[in-house]
Amino acid sequence: MGLLDQEFSDSNIVITKAEDLLNWARLSSLWQLGFGLACCAIEMMATSASHYDFDRFGVIPRPSPRQSDIIIISGTVTLKMALRIKRLYEQMPDPKYIISMGSCSNCGGPYWEHGYHVLKGVDRVIPVDVYVPGCPPRPEALLEGLLKLQEKIRTESLSKKSA
Ligand code: SF4
Repeated sequence: MGLLDQEFSDSNIVITKAEDLLNWARLSSLWQLGFGLACCAIEMMATSASHYDFDRFGVIPRPSPRQSDIIIISGTVTLKMALRIKRLYEQMPDPKYIISMGSCSNCGGPYWEHGYHVLKGVDRVIPVDVYVPGCPPRPEALLEGLLKLQEKIRTESLSKKSA
C-alpha cells in the first residue's frame, strides 16, 4: 500500500502509517551535499541544471554535511580524498544515503589496475546504497539511480536504518 492507504469520502482525512509518512517525506526531500571529484561531476551538475531539473525530485544542494541527507560521490576517489569523504559521511545526521556515480567511484574505473593513488571503490570507506555505472554516466542514469534510492527509502524500516 502507498502513502494514502485510505481516504474518507469527504476527502479531508487520510490514514497511513507514521513510518510510511516519514519515508515519503524523506524520499521527497533529499538534500545533497555538493561533492564533485572529477569528470563525472560535470554530469552531476548538468543533472541539477534546468534541462534535467534535479530539484523536481527534492534534491537540493547544501554546503554542509550537517544539513545533508545524501552524498553523490561523482568522480575519482584518490587515497588522500578517501579519508575526507569518510569524515564528511560521519558528520551527516542519520538517516543518510550514498550514491556512487561512475566507474571510478564504483571500482576505480580506468585506474583500477595501475592507479596506485586511486581507491578501488568508495564502498571500501563508506556504505553505498546505489551504484550508477558509466564513464561518465549520463544525467538520465543518475536520475534512474535516484529513483532506485527513492524506492529503497519507501520500504525502509526507520529503526533499522538509524541503528
Ligand atoms: S568514471 Fe570516467 S568520467 Fe567519471 S570520473 Fe572516472 S574517468 Fe572521469
